[in-house]
Amino acid sequence: MRPYILGETNWKALKDAQFELAVLPWGATEAHNYHLPYATDVIESDFLAAESAKIAWNKGAKVIVFPTIPFGVNTGQSDIYLDINLNPSTQYAILNDVIDTLNRQGIHKLLVFNSHGGNNWKSIVRELGLKFPSMFICVSNWFKWPDKSNYFDEIGDHADEVETSLMLYLKPDFVLPKENWGSGKEKTHKIKAFSEGWAWAERKWSQISEDTGVGNPELATKEKGERFFKAISNKMGNLLYDISKADINDLYE
Ligand SMILES: [Zn+2]
Repeated sequence: MRPYILGETNWKALKDAQFELAVLPWGATEAHNYHLPYATDVIESDFLAAESAKIAWNKGAKVIVFPTIPFGVNTGQSDIYLDINLNPSTQYAILNDVIDTLNRQGIHKLLVFNSHGGNNWKSIVRELGLKFPSMFICVSNWFKWPDKSNYFDEIGDHADEVETSLMLYLKPDFVLPKENWGSGKEKTHKIKAFSEGWAWAERKWSQISEDTGVGNPELATKEKGERFFKAISNKMGNLLYDISKADINDLYE
């Protein structure tokens, strides 16, 4: 029973508790190439958020990790069977209600621990920040960590070597044997501005990838996953600690 995991702790422990930071992991339920489970982003969220919170907790931060929200924005995968879409406006509504509780009960820091690329938070956080001026609301995207090339040979962005390695480490029983792995080959946009990244249009997932993966998983290993998991957890643990201890009225130097 971990005291920093809300789903595991109890009223006896919490009735007089005072947390500094709430962590809300947010995943998605969607196809991940042929070989990874639909809950990949949820599993990554669960394990990474818990390990990061453990590191922060052991340093003295009062953090509490909420249950992972299992659905994410999948508007571009509407024709992929059982990819469950949560619209951005629904995400706004959920986050609004969570923040309403925190704000009323005096936990004024919230980190959305995001694990799915289709979840875009900036406009939602801007709007809720204005609505709840006493709250410090922030977002992390561990999968955008700039250092990934020190851990992996070929980095893609969905069910790739990174995610396959992580799942081989975290939940090997949920990963199909290697002969089932698709190549994760991605078609790029004919209009170059979109692939260069300075113009944006949503990708029609079923048209850019045959196996739903983007990025080749071939060189994934459990060892790479373990090394990366530990590095990210450390980095995130320090972030959780820093946010917990920060004075939200004095954040700049
Ligand atoms: Zn994923």
